[in-house]
Amino acid sequence: MLCDVCKVEMNDSTTEMEISVKERKVKAVNVPAMVCPKCNKLVVEELVDKLVRKAAKHCKDDTFDYPKEVKVFGFGFGKAKL
Ligand SMILES: [Zn+2]
Repeated sequence: MLCDVCKVEMNDSTTEMEISVKERKVKAVNVPAMVCPKCNKLVVEELVDKLVRKAAKHCKDDTFDYPKEVKVFGFGFGKAKL
């Protein structure tokens, strides 16, 4: 994936997201994202964004770990790397 602004290849990264679920907020950590090495623009793929929102609805806690939580739905999508 290329950065919209710089047209350079973006690097794999992770980020945190805060999702509003009804009257509460749920925080997702270790969400896979792409980051531009030049301008530091961060992009979360649409599919990942959808999965985060879906997981947030099912989450009973204030915070969840994306790679762990998303497995519950049968997607092997979490990139658990450091
Ligand atoms: Zn850029």
